[in-house]
Amino acid sequence: MQSSGRLGKLFIVGTGPGKNIQLTGRAVEAITESEIIIGNDFYLNQIPEYIEGKEVIRSSMGKEVERAKRCVELAKEKKVCMVSGGDPGVYGMAGIVLEVIDHENSCIDYEIVPGVTAATAAASIAGSPLSGDYVTISLSDLLTPLEIIEMRLNHAFQMGIPVALYNPKSRGRPDNLSLALSIAMKHKNNDTPVAVVKNAYREEQDMKFFTLKSLFDDDNFVDMSSIVIIGGEETRIAKVCGKEILITPRGYDRKYIY
Ligand code: SAH
Repeated sequence: MQSSGRLGKLFIVGTGPGKNIQLTGRAVEAITESEIIIGNDFYLNQIPEYIEGKEVIRSSMGKEVERAKRCVELAKEKKVCMVSGGDPGVYGMAGIVLEVIDHENSCIDYEIVPGVTAATAAASIAGSPLSGDYVTISLSDLLTPLEIIEMRLNHAFQMGIPVALYNPKSRGRPDNLSLALSIAMKHKNNDTPVAVVKNAYREEQDMKFFTLKSLFDDDNFVDMSSIVIIGGEETRIAKVCGKEILITPRGYDRKYIY
């Protein structure tokens, strides 16, 4: 944390995957302490009770740089809270805000408040597919060229560990998921289990299991509010308490009897 000696402060807060119940205690404190709340409409709408009565600046997707500059400027004098879904440091606003501060060569008092990211939120709904090492890759090619995403996918699927795909699909790029699945099928069995978790911890929450091949054949279930978890070499479907879940054993079975 850096201090400028001025009164303002910038909180960059992760609001978690869903509604207010997923906010951390520190996130609630930071929002409550702030005079101005700035963020994307979608995430602000998840936490109406915390922003009531405050000055709220709503911004839209794609305006991240503008939003980051604005909050840095405002935080020189006031207590400002920039909200970012999930964890702000995972495909979120923390990076760009810090870059803006760095480029301006200025110093403000700031604090990054972590939140529950979509991968672990989704994993908790699917079972425990990310119990050991795993990789996350975003399929959004807005900021990363598609050739680089393809190269990363090729590496990731050769590692034998689970891969969580963020931003799997949108109207603007409906085909990136089938491209990713076709790369996965070059390196992995067609029957590798896959979990798609949609709107984790929101009212519309939904989840389905697929295999690589069945999802490749029909990926209509997947949308922009989904995360796709592709199992690793040891990931399997198990039936626990009458419910199918996805497990990636961490290796206790190689060491202990239970
Ligand atoms: N900072 C966020 C990620 C932002 S990128 C985080 O840490 O979770 C946006 C992508 O995250 C979405 O396209 C989707 O793939 C995933 N995502 C975010 N919230 C989600 C949720 N509640 N359920 C499923 N996926 C989610």
